Amino acid sequence: MSTGLSVTSLSYSYGTKRALSDVSFDVAPGRFAALLGPNGAGKSTLFSLLTRLFTTRDGTIRIAGFDMAKTPRQALQKMGVVFQSPTLDLDLTIRQNLNYFAALHGLSGRDARARIDHALERLQILDRAHEKARNLNGGHRRRTEIARALIHAPSVLLLDEPTVGLDAAARQSITDHVHRLCAEEGLTVLWATHLTDEVFDTDQLVVLHQGRIRAQGDCAALRGDAPLKDYFLATTGIPA
Ligand code: ADP
Repeated sequence: MSTGLSVTSLSYSYGTKRALSDVSFDVAPGRFAALLGPNGAGKSTLFSLLTRLFTTRDGTIRIAGFDMAKTPRQALQKMGVVFQSPTLDLDLTIRQNLNYFAALHGLSGRDARARIDHALERLQILDRAHEKARNLNGGHRRRTEIARALIHAPSVLLLDEPTVGLDAAARQSITDHVHRLCAEEGLTVLWATHLTDEVFDTDQLVVLHQGRIRAQGDCAALRGDAPLKDYFLATTGIPA
């Protein structure tokens, strides 16, 4: 059974407004896929379908081989999600935030503590565990959310524009961290962004524009000799 992510012929409309049209792509186990698209491309809509906030009869989503429509519990169990809007409780410490999430997944006691420590260690913020989320900068809050998304040991990690609102240094740090998680731990990653400098040459690239896939493949092969910014402009008609 595949441990990656598979989307087949997915379509979605808000009333008469078509937001996604016949979207298909696969992310192989252990690969980092950048879902690149300008504002309004349909990235958030796709994430809402991937996380089952929305449902559709048009198309199929498989997470680690589990069909989202037929076996949603298993599919969601295999998935970690970092949403675009921050979702930490600022009045709780980092550890309390993660404890709460662990409890939601039925984890408690020594097992929960070990998993939380491991997740915080992976994101290099274990030493901040006792601090209130409010006292952390934006980059560390985001790292905490990524650590939280990993507590239940998912094989697929989804991040919807996770660097929005961060300064350049924090943006770079988060981007590097998640690429490393993918390379070193075999996590399958789907990273939505409208920023070409968050995409590495070694990434799989999926370009979404006006609800349709415009290109997909290895980033280096797709862009050839052109900077990714130019390739993006040529593919979508929109400057990155
Ligand atoms: P992105 O995340 O790439 O910016 P979205 O998924 O938010 O794109 O939006 C895709 C399209 O769907 C856009 O044209 C947007 O205006 C439209 N859209 C998004 N949410 C709604 C909604 N609740 N009602 C109607 N149209 C929507």
